[in-house]
Amino acid sequence: MPFQDISGQHLAKRILQNHLRSKTLSHAYIFSGPKGSGRKQTAMTLVQAIYCQERTDDACGECVECRRVAHGNHPDVRWIEPDGASVKIEQVRELQKDLSYRASASQKKIYIIDEAEKMTVQAANSLLKFLEEPGSDIMAVLLTENGQALLPTIRSRAQWISFVPAPPKTMADTLLQEGIPAPLALPAVHLVAGIAAARELSQAEWFAEARSVMLQLARESLSRKTVAAITAQQKLLKGTLAEHLGTVLDLWILWFKDMVQIQFGRNDDVVYIDQLDWMSKTALTKEPGFWVAGMEQVMEVQKRIRFNANPQLSLENLIFGIQGG
Ligand SMILES: [Zn+2]
Repeated sequence: MPFQDISGQHLAKRILQNHLRSKTLSHAYIFSGPKGSGRKQTAMTLVQAIYCQERTDDACGECVECRRVAHGNHPDVRWIEPDGASVKIEQVRELQKDLSYRASASQKKIYIIDEAEKMTVQAANSLLKFLEEPGSDIMAVLLTENGQALLPTIRSRAQWISFVPAPPKTMADTLLQEGIPAPLALPAVHLVAGIAAARELSQAEWFAEARSVMLQLARESLSRKTVAAITAQQKLLKGTLAEHLGTVLDLWILWFKDMVQIQFGRNDDVVYIDQLDWMSKTALTKEPGFWVAGMEQVMEVQKRIRFNANPQLSLENLIFGIQGG
């Protein structure tokens, strides 16, 4: 896919296209940024652009070379990911042997290492030797959530490209254009860092249910606390949603934030836009401090559950702790 179709990451795309245009590609790149921020897609486009038959500073996405890269069967490209917990020296050696036997001697050879921070020291050193070989036409793209965790010797030999989390508004616009309904797209973009992750979350089967159970809990916790406790027990702590308790609580925090936004008249920023009617009526019955306190209480419960507190007790404390009318 062409660079312009990758959402956000304008600086990263500009640097890479400049390098392509001026034929000053580095031997190694570090794409550092949060999961879902487009590192993989950008690596794919960069590799396509290098081989593309139609364009010099971009990928057409249509030619034979672009398609081979996209389908993972380009002879000069290798993708590596951790084998178990780490990227091992055997994997790097295998790669070197493999690529040095390739017939197409004239072409640049490229390998992309995903989760590069998981390279063992030996693997990283082996990689370094590879990068330093004079006259070699090999390029490495290291994808990582934490570039600082890479060996300094690798960092100093590679061109660093930062991937920033896309702003939620930008991601939401993209998802809405793709036809994902606003009630799912809007909360999803606030919970994850990148468009790919937001798309996946908003389309997950359990996510719509998580959202509706949270809304039910939020409503019941204000007045019918015993009912809310039963809802938590029956709908949240059993079945699929039990695995996603953290997300349900995140959704609840967003709901409390919405209540504060409504109090300050910032309805455009509301996430649960389809619930605006009853939320508006309810929001104004309390002081802003009430909703802020609710948000803090949910965060506290999240923390306790992370430290292995009993989820059911913690949720009950939360429900009965929210001072309803
Ligand atoms: Zn092409």
